[in-house]
Amino acid sequence: MNDTPIYVTQPLLPELDEFLPYLEQIWASKQLTNGGTMHRQLEQQLAEYLGVEHVALFNNGTIALLTALQALRITGEVITTPYSFVATTHSLLWNGIRPVFADIDPHSFNLDPEKIEAAITPHTTAIMPVHCYGNPCQVEAIQRIADNYNLKIIYDAAHSFGVRDEGGSILRHGDLSVLSFHATKVFNTFEGGAIICPDAKTKKRIDQLKNFGFVDEVTVVANGINGKMSEINAAFGLLQLKHIDQALAQRQDIARRYNQQLKGIQGLSTPAVLFEHTTNNAYYPILIERDFPISRDALYQHLRDEGIYSRRYFYPLISQFPMYRGLVSAQPENLAIATDIADKVLCLPIYPALKKEEQKKIIGLIRACCE
Ligand SMILES: *Cc1c(COP(=O)(O)O)cnc(C)c1O
Repeated sequence: MNDTPIYVTQPLLPELDEFLPYLEQIWASKQLTNGGTMHRQLEQQLAEYLGVEHVALFNNGTIALLTALQALRITGEVITTPYSFVATTHSLLWNGIRPVFADIDPHSFNLDPEKIEAAITPHTTAIMPVHCYGNPCQVEAIQRIADNYNLKIIYDAAHSFGVRDEGGSILRHGDLSVLSFHATKVFNTFEGGAIICPDAKTKKRIDQLKNFGFVDEVTVVANGINGKMSEINAAFGLLQLKHIDQALAQRQDIARRYNQQLKGIQGLSTPAVLFEHTTNNAYYPILIERDFPISRDALYQHLRDEGIYSRRYFYPLISQFPMYRGLVSAQPENLAIATDIADKVLCLPIYPALKKEEQKKIIGLIRACCE
């Protein structure tokens, strides 16, 4: 067995040779950014691949979230989840919006619709749910609440590349969905992201907002930002698309092996079994309960000592960070389930290049704790 560290994820990185022709094309065009050929092609190919109407590319997912909130002119309070990556709620603070945390469902780790409804106040203007680990939220229940209370929905779909339900892409739900193409994600452009939107008019506004608010050479209509994706990043996305189906299939194989081989261990549960058929296997979470022989943190450290870098994802909860913990909704009593899950969860390595022997080693080390 080799001793190179095994990280929780590894970027999907096609052969360098495959990328060179794209670079030659960019050099020949002399257009490096501002909606060049690569950018236009990637928007079009992603819309086709994902099965959505419009894609607006961004330089990262966080700026895409910020812009999505601006595009819909969201103000006041937005109900969201503490069980996510900090960028979800940071995007609210950057827009002067107050995050209101609601608790999650213990099986899906997604916002519990009943808790969303209970958190609504006269200041609530929108809901920002996360399809955690790529597993879809209860989109219909959330839509009903939004309709009843006249709220917008912006999905943080950073984990959800390629996820579908019976009706098609998961990204068609809500008013807008935001993807991240960061290096650690299922599909990456080194750094990158996108807003998925249903109509051309909204896409046009988003495209203006990501380009400083410019409408034409001499007209600025909004205090936009620089959210543009460069040609080099877009080109990498085009190349990556050619490999994505295989990468998703490899992830599924790895998840299935974990599902089978981590079955029946006292004090360890595999929640991903429940969403086996609805996820892109972006992550592989396990829960370490009190009757497991060692604590979650001890297991994390033990794996680390053996060169395996699992991740406590998501721990700590967003609501525990200093800029949030003073909020009434951030109190642990309001977030009992999220608090409990954050103390138990461990995400195991899952990425296309993970070798069978490496996975066997990981499973072996976990099982050995029980012997
Ligand atoms: C990765 C991630 C983001 C941020 O995306 P970046 O492209 O890294 O800016 C936002 N939300 C969630 C849930 C994420 O996992």
